[in-house]
Amino acid sequence: MRKNLTFRLLRMTTKYGRIRKIFDYDKEEKHNLDRCPGCLSGNDRLHDFGDLDRYGYYAKTSWCDRCGLIFINPRMGLAGYSRFYQSGVYRQIIKFYADTPKKFSAEKEGIPPRVMPFKDLLSEYFQRHRKLSVLDIGGTGNIFHLLRELLSIDRYVCVNPAASEIEIDEQAGFEVFEGVVEQYEATEKFDLICMFGTLNHLLEPKLVFNKVSKLLDHAGIFAFDHVNRVEKMIKSSHPIQQIQIDHPVYPASETISYLAGDSRMKIYKMVSNIKSQYCYLLKLDGKIDERTSINKKIFEKLSKRSKSISLNYLIKYLVKRMLLA
Ligand SMILES: [Zn+2]
Repeated sequence: MRKNLTFRLLRMTTKYGRIRKIFDYDKEEKHNLDRCPGCLSGNDRLHDFGDLDRYGYYAKTSWCDRCGLIFINPRMGLAGYSRFYQSGVYRQIIKFYADTPKKFSAEKEGIPPRVMPFKDLLSEYFQRHRKLSVLDIGGTGNIFHLLRELLSIDRYVCVNPAASEIEIDEQAGFEVFEGVVEQYEATEKFDLICMFGTLNHLLEPKLVFNKVSKLLDHAGIFAFDHVNRVEKMIKSSHPIQQIQIDHPVYPASETISYLAGDSRMKIYKMVSNIKSQYCYLLKLDGKIDERTSINKKIFEKLSKRSKSISLNYLIKYLVKRMLLA
């Protein structure tokens, strides 16, 4: 009862009423996942995590006790998420939540500071004179400006499911595939596959990593960044502040070792840039590496915290939002 009251109060204080006018998540069709999208473990390894996201939407989450992935479950399917991203609703919600009137533009956004470590990592790896073929998953395009400074690019393909952003990619002269990478078919291999600001948006991370290992040249590199929200939950933040419907999955560092190992890639380099933000370079390995096993007690504790929003937390949250407003 008290939990329900606290939940209701939280929903009110997260401007839920106004956010709901932008997107009524409660009404969207959702389905239950009976396996972990990170390691494909079955139901017996999945446990309830929490019930609510940071916007105040009822977004139930599960966690996998094998690879440590936390994910929204039940969740919208590809059609629902495509609509969500394509309509631009997703950016409106973020903008509304963060109170920052920010217009998305690859030019204006510039190069995100979190991906700057790739500058050194990639220029160390690739010879400048070599002409490279690049596949950009998530196709935010802005990373192209960074890559163009460093590398000789022969071919640049963007895979982007968001129609609202495809125009930006096309204006920049990229080859564009409209859809998700799981649908992208190509016979040739790529020297560099990039995936920036995208990992948390994937519906099926395991399938994506499998696909990448098929599209990657034997001497190629898969470069992606990752905001480790599970680490943030462990270190400082309340789990609910990390969960948001626009992020279907929340990989832990252990999840990355599963995703890489299961798709026969190994972590070639990993650097931490800003707090809980990581840059990874993966290479094809040919064998299945040993995985890092998770500390189940930590996940159980997090899940308990996620489910019990105390009045104490709510008051702190209210004060914070009032100060920010
Ligand atoms: Zn798993």
